[in-house]
Amino acid sequence: MTEAHMSFAPLDDRDGVIWLDGKLVPWREARLHVLSHGLHYGGSVFEGERAYGGRVFKLHEHSTRLMASAREMGYELPWTADELDAATREVVALAGLDEGYVRPVAWRGSDSLRLVAQDTSVHVAIAAWPWPRVFDGGARGIRLRTSRWRRPAPDTAPIRAKAAALYAIGSLAGQEAEQAGYGDALLLDHRGRLAEATGANLFLVIGGELHTPPPECVLDGITRRTVIELAHGLGLAVVERHLAPDQLACADEVFLTGTAYEVQPVAAVDDREYAVGDITAALVKAYAGLVRSALVVDTSAGQSESG
Ligand code: PMP
Repeated sequence: MTEAHMSFAPLDDRDGVIWLDGKLVPWREARLHVLSHGLHYGGSVFEGERAYGGRVFKLHEHSTRLMASAREMGYELPWTADELDAATREVVALAGLDEGYVRPVAWRGSDSLRLVAQDTSVHVAIAAWPWPRVFDGGARGIRLRTSRWRRPAPDTAPIRAKAAALYAIGSLAGQEAEQAGYGDALLLDHRGRLAEATGANLFLVIGGELHTPPPECVLDGITRRTVIELAHGLGLAVVERHLAPDQLACADEVFLTGTAYEVQPVAAVDDREYAVGDITAALVKAYAGLVRSALVVDTSAGQSESG
């Protein structure tokens, strides 16, 4: 997904506040120095979160994954997950958000440009803005193009981290897919097995069961986990296994899951077309219901927004 999908106005020229290292700063002043370690060496980590009715869905899971991503990149955040949760709630409340997007990001600072930067300061920012229709592939779903770029092996890149470094690959893949007239790229993993889209996990419906790659070379998506639970609740079998690309020919339905994409039907992969089937439609509905039901069920401020 490109920035063009995300923005209504330039992201550095808006009203409001951004939480930066424990303080609320005016939106336009939330800047960092050009000689920041994170900018040069791709070590920053981030999250993409979604607020529904002013509450962030699975907030604690996202804060926890941000911390785990930083650890994978060799640094610790100077905040606990509970503190990040509280800061996020404050930012969302101050933005007066109903439906919106939340972007926490962490990076190593400008104390040193030594590649090995054990002592370099660590910074965290959290911004939130209205973004009611985050991602919409259209009623018929999104068209994917298999990318020449692949998800790297776990011994080649910190594949478990939601790290900026990995998004260089997704960005290239997404750009090429869009230039070819597709909605997003489908990346294979380093062994040529089906992996994921640029910002979403992949599911195939084969013989009434869900089949999805294990989170070895793909991000362990929070939506993925949620949808697996929902599928079990609907009595559907879920098989986590390595999938060769020829499995696409066996699939009756294909869909993606992600915080931004929610449950997104796939209309085509390359030249192969798919209809939005009953199972995908049921999961689209179940997920939409869940993210909104969390508003009704969870009314106490200190509780998890996970619903
Ligand atoms: N894979 C990638 C590469 C992603 O960027 C995302 C979005 N964070 C996902 C999968 C889906 O993860 P989640 O459900 O946690 O948003």
